[in-house]
Amino acid sequence: MGIASINPATGSVVHEFSPLTTAEVEGKLERAAIAFQSYRNTSFEQRAVWLRAAADILEARKDEFAQTMTLEMGKLLRAGVAEVEKCALLCRYYADHAPEFLADVSVSTEAQRSFVRYQPLGAVLAVMPWNFPFWQVFRFAAPALMAGNVGLLKHASNVPQSALAIEAILREAGFPEGTFQTLLIGAQQVADIVADPRVVAATLTGSEAAGASLASAAGKALKPTVLELGGSDPFVVTAYADVDTAIAQAVTGRLLNNGQTCIAAKRFILLESIADQFTAGFVERFNALKVGDPTNADTDLGPLSTPAILSELEDQVNRCIAQGAKVLVGGDRAALLKSMPTSQQSGNYYPATILSELPPGCPAYSEEFFGPVALLFTVKTLDEAIALANSTAFGLGASAWTQDPQEQERCIQELDAGAVFINSLVKSDPRLPFGGIKRSGYGRELSVEGIRAFVNAKTVWLQA
Ligand code: NAP
Repeated sequence: MGIASINPATGSVVHEFSPLTTAEVEGKLERAAIAFQSYRNTSFEQRAVWLRAAADILEARKDEFAQTMTLEMGKLLRAGVAEVEKCALLCRYYADHAPEFLADVSVSTEAQRSFVRYQPLGAVLAVMPWNFPFWQVFRFAAPALMAGNVGLLKHASNVPQSALAIEAILREAGFPEGTFQTLLIGAQQVADIVADPRVVAATLTGSEAAGASLASAAGKALKPTVLELGGSDPFVVTAYADVDTAIAQAVTGRLLNNGQTCIAAKRFILLESIADQFTAGFVERFNALKVGDPTNADTDLGPLSTPAILSELEDQVNRCIAQGAKVLVGGDRAALLKSMPTSQQSGNYYPATILSELPPGCPAYSEEFFGPVALLFTVKTLDEAIALANSTAFGLGASAWTQDPQEQERCIQELDAGAVFINSLVKSDPRLPFGGIKRSGYGRELSVEGIRAFVNAKTVWLQA
């Protein structure tokens, strides 16, 4: 299927779209280039008025936008509402703070005056994933537009209605024509757009393969990129943890967005002394979850977004089991479907699953599990826990649960990740930079770092 909304809860095709032709893409690139020439000269005050208007539209129509997301990618309706609210918060954050983030920075030298001025670069291409169809895009768009850049969005092919809705919101908010355009295109059209001289930079959130492909196209054209890629975040629980709180948060952390979150806790690394207690509580809570229709208020876990994501996850679990892993909960999709109403049996449902006794070398040690599957590891010491946490090729986030200040400091210092959260789940917050190291990508979004990702830090030297 090309570009289409397909309801993950039923498998039915809701809306299909034809990809833009080369001539249509050309028209949009030209419009972006023209728009930039005037948009770059608008004031922060004017941009902030438009961005606040976008926040107002998001809030006023949050139920409608949440429904669009649920219909296209299956997130729980209430999670969609929260996502739209967070986008509104983000827009207001950058409307308030962009002027200070991009104000001239004086540097004292021998010059009469020297300073750094931050200026926009031009049209930035954003290649975005389906898992947070609004948040991922606004996380790019709000700072980019406040900085005076213009945006081109290539959204994931399964969320075209979300993509079109976002363009419409920004236009309705007052942003001039051409300042933010959705390109309904397939992934194979991205490299040519990156190479086009009217596009000055690119950002991608998604898989390692997509990131590498975009970065290589951008490398050939000598254009800057920011990449937010996958993760297999550790959730370390030590002997000094508040275990009950850790269990409750572990359930939320693993299952948020039906388990399809880059910064979800995926590998649960437990110190021996609390392992049994943690596992018993975790299993009990997973067993009590209600899987089903994402629009129902009492559903805990909805469907996965696409059949491809579902089959990859099922394959990963099956490979772990074949190599000797023990299934504590779930792991059997056929059994889950049998327990569901016939109307839901063609949905992309997968049971909440916990695997333990994972044999070294199985996929749990090296691959990202993008769905509701928790991987449990038991270790004897904090040294071992940190070594295991750092042993993947990823480095997005890490969460550690301990009340001991020395252990906290060790985790902060020694966990290899773009973010370490102590006694908290890893989360994104407009006020803090977000991004990874190693194969989780490079560059940062959000906060001051995010808005400075795509600007010219122009050095100015004034001499009498
Ligand atoms: P994906 O296949 O990489 O898709 C993401 C986007 O990249 C889509 O718009 C996709 O377009 C496009 N794309 C795919 N292949 C491409 C290529 N060769 N060149 C250019 N663009 C290409 O990602 P996914 O597997 O659906 O999404 C889940 C991944 O995203 C997970 O690994 C997750 O951890 C990661 N993620 C990371 C973050 C973060 O902030 N670090 C946040 C959310 C998700 P099509 O849909 O048309 O293929």
